[in-house]
Amino acid sequence: MPETILIVEDEPALQETLAYTLKKEGYLVETVGDGRSALETARRLRPDLIVLDVMLPALDGFEVARILRKEMSTAILMLTARDAEIDRVVGLEVGADDYLTKPFSMRELLARVKAQLRRARLLREEIAQSRGSMEHDRLIFDNLVINLTRREVTLDGQVLALKPKEYELLLFFAEHRGQMLSREFILERVWGWDFIGDSRTVDVHVRWLRQKIEPDPSNPRRIVTVRGGGYRFEG
Ligand code: CA
Repeated sequence: MPETILIVEDEPALQETLAYTLKKEGYLVETVGDGRSALETARRLRPDLIVLDVMLPALDGFEVARILRKEMSTAILMLTARDAEIDRVVGLEVGADDYLTKPFSMRELLARVKAQLRRARLLREEIAQSRGSMEHDRLIFDNLVINLTRREVTLDGQVLALKPKEYELLLFFAEHRGQMLSREFILERVWGWDFIGDSRTVDVHVRWLRQKIEPDPSNPRRIVTVRGGGYRFEG
C-alpha cells in the first residue's frame, strides 16, 4: 500500500511542487495551507509523514508539531525558512524528526522523505512485535485476551464484566503497549474532547480495571503508574 504524506505549506507554488514531486514517486498526497487544517487533516488521515512548514497562518509549524507529537507517532519533516540554528533546535525540541532549510532541491527533499519513511516503517514493525501476538481479531497478553469483534475480555478463559469505558480504556492501553500515556492524553482519546471532567476520571477507571485484570491490584504489573507522567501498559 502506498504511503501517505501530508504537505503543510502556505506558499502555493511550493505546495504544488512538493505535491507533484511526491505524487510522482507514488505516494498518496494531501495538501493544506495552514496550521489548523494541518491538525484536522492529520487526525483524519493519520499520514505516514508530514512535511511541515514552520511559518504558517493560524498556527505555526512548531505548535502543530508540538500538538501532533502528543497524539501520534507520524514522522515530521520540518521546512524552515531561514538557516537559523534556533529553528533547528526548536524544531527538534517540539518533536520534528528532521528538517530542511529553504531553499532546498526536490532531490534533497526526496532523500529526506525516504529516510524518514524507512525509519517509520522500522518503528511500526517494532511496535507490531511488541503488541502481543495478534491472532485474527484478538489481542493476547498471556492469560488476558481481548476479543475485538465481541468486545469481550477474558482472563484465564473467564469473561470479565467490564463497563464500556473500562473496555475502551483497556483496548487503548493494549494498542499503545509499552508507551507512557499521560492522563490528559488518555482522557482526550478515550473520553473525547467534549468530556466534562478531569484526569481523576482516568485514575478511577484504572483502579477499577486493575481490580479486574491484575493478580494483585495493589502491586500492578499490567497497568503501571509512571511517576509524574501517567500510565504504561505492560501487557
Ligand atoms: Ca510558509
